[in-house]
Amino acid sequence: FVRQESTLAADLKARGVKYALASFVDIHGISKSKIVPLEHFGQMLEGSELFTGAALDGVPQEVNDEEVSARPDPDSLAILPWNPEVAWFASDLHLENQPFEACSRGILKRVLAQAADMGFQFNLGIETEFFIFKDTADGGFAPVSARDNLAKPCYDVRGFLDNYGLLDEIVQAMNGLGWDVYSFDHEDANGQFETDFQYADALSMADRVTFFRLMVGEMARRHGYFASFMPKPFGDRTGSGAHYNMSLAELGSGRNLFAADKDRYGNKLSRLGYQFTAGVLRHAPAICAVIAPTVNSYKRLVRRGNQSGFTWAPIFVSYGNNNRTNMLRIPLAGGRVECRAADIAGNIYLGAAMILAAGLEGIREELDPGAPHAENMYLHSEAELDTMGISALPRTLGEAVDAFEQDPLSEQVMGPIMARSFAQYKREEWEEYHRHVSDWEIRRYLKLF
Ligand code: GLU
Ligand code: MG
Ligand code: MG
Repeated sequence: FVRQESTLAADLKARGVKYALASFVDIHGISKSKIVPLEHFGQMLEGSELFTGAALDGVPQEVNDEEVSARPDPDSLAILPWNPEVAWFASDLHLENQPFEACSRGILKRVLAQAADMGFQFNLGIETEFFIFKDTADGGFAPVSARDNLAKPCYDVRGFLDNYGLLDEIVQAMNGLGWDVYSFDHEDANGQFETDFQYADALSMADRVTFFRLMVGEMARRHGYFASFMPKPFGDRTGSGAHYNMSLAELGSGRNLFAADKDRYGNKLSRLGYQFTAGVLRHAPAICAVIAPTVNSYKRLVRRGNQSGFTWAPIFVSYGNNNRTNMLRIPLAGGRVECRAADIAGNIYLGAAMILAAGLEGIREELDPGAPHAENMYLHSEAELDTMGISALPRTLGEAVDAFEQDPLSEQVMGPIMARSFAQYKREEWEEYHRHVSDWEIRRYLKLF
């Protein structure tokens, strides 16, 4: 280990790195760290960096509690593409030499270990949707695309070309980090983009998406713009999802255990994949609190009110074939399940932990999700859905937090202390919003009666 450590330090030095970050996340999945000059890198690897959890949103610590230490994972190294003098590492948190219960990364690792006990590796591909905006003179913001008046900006080539400088920088940086982007585009809302890159084991993917938000934010700022990962900045345009593309591989061989020949439903998904799907459906409302974790997230999970007609975001606890109106979709290529309820504001460690735990439960109990829905779910009336036995996803953060608190899965995954802290933080977020009187209410009611 000592040799490996000094080799790494020497390697970083040779690459011109001056500072290292032992990054960890708060409840939002935002990267936090102390900055360590490379001369002290050896200590940092052993967990010298201490911090107080009370300084972080949603981390259950009091100011007088013992400090938490961050132990960087050497495999997660990312040298900042826009500033190669700084090296970033995702870290695992410890308290008094024990894994810290509120460490998001540790929570995911615990569920990954359960999957490993069952012989599985959880693979995850996340589609990152986000906005690039500029500040306007009147204190507002506007999309960067010159063609921000297009009714259907999806796949707009000029939206791409007009922002070539920034997008090229982002995509080249992702590839430089070894993420293998296979396509990117202008998405369905003005100033909205999506970058799609190769799936990986879930831990690496969570590290990457955490780093991605940091990176895109910094790169946009250097162009005089800002990146937004708010799920729904415009009521009348599409929001930003973070679809989770999920599969289980056989530990060791890497064989995709969700892959299968075409079945009677026309999908290429194994029995294991269906069981996983059923587990996720069973716990969908509680999972939503974590993968769609803001007040604003629920303004994205609506069917209409979009300039393109429909929103492509799910509103029901349902799964289906290759169509975008279900919460869970089985893409035509098969071998994976896509969860469309997740948005880009989530803490991916916690989201992946919740959804995997639900899927594993489905496998353990050999659950059956029933027949998939190939039809456009948006066209069903509430009454029809009722008779079909399909329930709605939570309609507000308040509803999602209720579900999270009622579902034993939450404590099982996060542990009692972190689960309580998560629920309390999100409950307060919801209550604060609920107390706020909006412009819409003033316009609608002030002089109505
Ligand atoms: N932006 C849409 C969403 O919220 C998804 C569009 C797509 O299918 O890529 O979730
Ligand atoms: Mg998309
Ligand atoms: Mg997708």
